[in-house]
Amino acid sequence: MNLSTRCVRSCDPRDPYSATSPPIYQTATFRQPTATELGEYDYSRTSNPTRALFEEQIAALEGGRFGLAFASGMAALAAVTRLVASGDEILAGDDLYGGTARLLSRVAPRQGIAVRYVDATDAAQVAAALGPATRLLLVESPGNPLLGIADLPALAALARERDVLLAVDNSLLTPLLQRPLELGAHLVVASTTKFLGGHSDTTGGMVAVGDEPGLAAELAFNQNAEGTALAPFECWLLLRGLKTLSLRLERQCRTAAALAELLAAHPAVSRVYYPALADPASRLVHRRQATGDGAVLSFTTGDAERSRRLVAATRLFTLAVSFGSVTSTLSLPCTMSHASVPAELRERLAPPPDLVRLSVGIEDPDDLRADLEQALAAAVDAVEPDAGSEPQRESRRGVQLT
Ligand code: PLP
Repeated sequence: MNLSTRCVRSCDPRDPYSATSPPIYQTATFRQPTATELGEYDYSRTSNPTRALFEEQIAALEGGRFGLAFASGMAALAAVTRLVASGDEILAGDDLYGGTARLLSRVAPRQGIAVRYVDATDAAQVAAALGPATRLLLVESPGNPLLGIADLPALAALARERDVLLAVDNSLLTPLLQRPLELGAHLVVASTTKFLGGHSDTTGGMVAVGDEPGLAAELAFNQNAEGTALAPFECWLLLRGLKTLSLRLERQCRTAAALAELLAAHPAVSRVYYPALADPASRLVHRRQATGDGAVLSFTTGDAERSRRLVAATRLFTLAVSFGSVTSTLSLPCTMSHASVPAELRERLAPPPDLVRLSVGIEDPDDLRADLEQALAAAVDAVEPDAGSEPQRESRRGVQLT
């Protein structure tokens, strides 16, 4: 079955009424046959039929054997860090969500876990950085917010050679565009708050695991022990969201590609970060491992104040954190989604202050284009009395211009 078909087919064949939309088992507990023989479900913190259906979907879409649904993307990432023991080390890519940096730098060390960062877009640097205590390599590809591309099969080969777990945060692309387990990763993790839900109306997270029952069991044990699972209604919203994922992504990616081109050609834009406009080597890596570029892109304007004015001037693009919704949003990662990067890591991990991130929705592409154009014009006009002069351009399309 093709993935776009699988997204739509999520009914439980065991449902006695053959409902075409799965029921929401909005219950905390289940009556048991006897005190010593437990039924299939007993308590929703442990498992729940609506969640089980969503978890089956996750596993199938990711090409894995096991799926687990968590209360948020961060809960899913925290669960992955639980696989690392005290005294072990996590090596993380340095183009990553600010909340992940906060988790790794503020929470993991309290569990006795050391964390180091590496440029995951360079497999040679990763190979050199992997140490004897490294237990987990955690990367995003494309990274949020700089859309850096990591060579996932190369990292998977390294991880397997060194007996390290590779976890890939696939929030930006979804399994419809990239399937890290099939590229050799041990774990794929995502914020389902983003594209899988698709409507900014629920927070959630997921982990999918390939043919590694031990890993899945450890995750499930901790999920139950710590009570981090996703609630039934949220699972239902995600099952519904998944049904339109393929259609939404198609439109969102197409519009994002057009807007990336527009921005790359705009004199007020210094550099655009988007897989299609990445340097040729990264583009090649991305094309080998993914079937699309996604609907998130970032760009710099060369001036933080100008970027602030730009995000204040849009009328359709809503100024909001997160991404992946049918509604287009934009943000300044440095002061918004990535403000949680700990102070001591800001030099290394904080996005440029003039970086603007767009999440492209399903609105009419012409309306989005017009909105961006007017906002760019407003941002330039307001600061630069001689608006005709060229702004400082660091680069365009990822290539140094001056
Ligand atoms: N991973 C990435 C790449 C993200 O961008 C985010 C949130 O923005 C998360 C994980 C965390 O997800 P959540 O906000 O659902 O906890």
